[in-house]
Amino acid sequence: MKKKVLIPIIVIAVAAIAVFGTRAYEAHAKTTQEHKVETQQAAKAKAEAQKQDKAMTEFMENKGHWAKDKYLGYINPYESWFKPQEIAPGENLLKSAQSYAVPANEVAQMIAGDYKGNQKEVFLTFDDGPSTNNTPKILDILKNEGVHATFFVIGDHLKSNPKIQQIVRREIMDGNAVGDHTFTHIYSELYPDNKIDVPYFMNQIQETQHLLTEVLGPNFHTGIVRLPGGYMSRAFYHDPNLIKFNEALDKDKDTALDWTAETGDAGTTKALDINQLIHTMDGDIHNQSNPNQVILLMHDAGAKVDTVKALPTIIQYFKSHGYAFKVIENPTPESFVGIPAKTDTYSNQGESLTTKTVVKDGKKVTEKVSDYKGKGYQYN
Ligand SMILES: [Zn+2]
Repeated sequence: MKKKVLIPIIVIAVAAIAVFGTRAYEAHAKTTQEHKVETQQAAKAKAEAQKQDKAMTEFMENKGHWAKDKYLGYINPYESWFKPQEIAPGENLLKSAQSYAVPANEVAQMIAGDYKGNQKEVFLTFDDGPSTNNTPKILDILKNEGVHATFFVIGDHLKSNPKIQQIVRREIMDGNAVGDHTFTHIYSELYPDNKIDVPYFMNQIQETQHLLTEVLGPNFHTGIVRLPGGYMSRAFYHDPNLIKFNEALDKDKDTALDWTAETGDAGTTKALDINQLIHTMDGDIHNQSNPNQVILLMHDAGAKVDTVKALPTIIQYFKSHGYAFKVIENPTPESFVGIPAKTDTYSNQGESLTTKTVVKDGKKVTEKVSDYKGKGYQYN
């Protein structure tokens, strides 16, 4: 081979080695870096799992104990049927319940009347429990019908009460979700002068959460809250503390949720006819801007025996109309990023996206319109 031809070949070969060699080195360096990150992540996950195992072992070994904060009372022993390790970590339901659960921020969007999904879904919700007479009967009916519900419990009912603590454990083990309905439910203390006392209210939420964790184990945490009288009442009375309250809920990653329909079982202490309850509910559903998603308010307090009687018919109503039964799980953390301040809604999360065109300064502009048709429930 002549020198003239050989030189360019050598130059190309050297260049090729330099280029591919560098790429190979870079590829190798990247792999090493990735490997390092993966190893760190695996170590972190392992440490977290060990921490959880330890917490669970400690919990299981506590065969009856005082709550860490003694004010929250005595926690009765767990029984072998209760499996706290089956609760999804940091969640308000079992791992197996997540397949039919919807995050609270999406449910808030449904209540605001602007959820984009078209599938028919119903969320049965029960407030003011648990009660020893009605809640177990409700749990039996739900089990027989193969459906689930979300229970917003009053913390004080659980305090040093072995029967009620077992009922909350059963609510969870049966595949239902559990939310927070404050510790005492006393209107005059939560809303003095009909204005929400933000630090007091937040303290009531946290006390109930602490007590639920003592009863249900370290995996349990609920981030769903139902206000006594409803969030809609705060909006209805133009509560001046509502913006501050929203900020506190957002900071705590809690969603306050109302309802779209009710059976009317809260309105009276008189006996209620089953047909009357169904009629009220049906009317509310037809008045909804989107009747495909129903969040139904009922009560499982000790006095609500008519709700128990009506429940099989209520479930039948939704089955025959093609609704899927869902439960409410904790909101996603990302859903709290950049949510606007608002007061004419049913929740600190979710707002109606309905718009209308209006003329402003001679120009057509599109404005958001609130779907808010809230009522004021001050005294029930
Ligand atoms: Zn209530």
